[in-house]
Amino acid sequence: MIYFDHNATTPIIPEVRDTVENAMERYWANPSSTHTLGRKAADELELARDRLAALLKVASDEIHFTSGGTEADNLALLGIINGEYTGSIVISDIEHPAVGNAAEFLEEKGVLCYRVPVDKEGILRINELHEVVNDSVQLVSVMFANNEIGTIQPMKQIGETAARYHIPLHSDAVQAFGKMPLNLTENGISLCSISSHKIYGPKGCGALYVSREVPIAPRTYGGSQERGIRTGTQNLPAILGFVKAAEIAYAKMNAEREYLFNLTEFLYSRITATITDVVRNGHPEQRIPGTLNISFPGTTSDMIVKALDKQRICVSGGAACHSGSVGSSHVLQAIGRRKQEAVAGVRFSLGRASTREEVEIVVRVLKQVVESLRAQ
Ligand code: PLP
Repeated sequence: MIYFDHNATTPIIPEVRDTVENAMERYWANPSSTHTLGRKAADELELARDRLAALLKVASDEIHFTSGGTEADNLALLGIINGEYTGSIVISDIEHPAVGNAAEFLEEKGVLCYRVPVDKEGILRINELHEVVNDSVQLVSVMFANNEIGTIQPMKQIGETAARYHIPLHSDAVQAFGKMPLNLTENGISLCSISSHKIYGPKGCGALYVSREVPIAPRTYGGSQERGIRTGTQNLPAILGFVKAAEIAYAKMNAEREYLFNLTEFLYSRITATITDVVRNGHPEQRIPGTLNISFPGTTSDMIVKALDKQRICVSGGAACHSGSVGSSHVLQAIGRRKQEAVAGVRFSLGRASTREEVEIVVRVLKQVVESLRAQ
């Protein structure tokens, strides 16, 4: 199998699996218990929090472990609004559904939601952001890097704009974390969502950073875990695996960034040399290093994904179907792609173990697949 779908999820690496297994044996007690075993688990949990906080250069009590990116995003949006469905929020046009659908829920409850458009490479139109921020805005939420096209946002500029009105800025950094420094404080980010399974850690684990300055309410009511903001017994083995994966990702960051950036450029150059009429989606430089999104007009993403799968190659198409626009990606629409391009986007997301040999095989198979679909 060739796996070019690392933005969907990544395989667990051996060091992380060992950490999780070890934790399941040694730290199975409830970290909230006051006996020796509980205290041992609590010590490990707090150590993990310190280690993650150190990577993010924030304070330990600003880290709240969650069940993943989706929960962190929902906690950020709904926790800031906290049942007072007044005022407004601002998001980008290309958010992941974990933010987009949470915003839609708030909208149904009466909160105004502005969706700021992006340019043709997926960069937020800062001028338009300036136009919608005002004193009634309770939260600005803009993703750090897009999961479909990989474009990285100018977070510093966005942070400065939000700060001018004292509006907290949330960023869904699920796709950026572990691949580039987030510089949360410098970028003026007060809330940030991250997830474990995109960085070779276990699934069902993530975190929400919340600056001490920002009051946030819980979405679940229970004990006092995670400062009462995310209650419920923590999944300690997963958390320890997550933090281990994060440390490895940070240690490898620079080398891996360069390797994957060049490998995706190589993939792009091979595709353009081999297949006619292709359109690259997303910013060619301001992007997370392993992501390349290409439209193959005259086909559909679904057909390509299925045909490649038959040849043991895993890639992804655009987002799931929305009513009325079957198989068309909202992100590709937002960057102005025509219908025939928006339904035919394929995301290649390469990872640590991806190789040039794999790229050569994928391009060879892809050429046959695209040509035969176009001939139908
Ligand atoms: N946000 C982005 C940008 C993502 O890519 C994903 C996962 O695909 C999520 C949020 C959701 O994260 P999780 O799968 O940990 O719930």
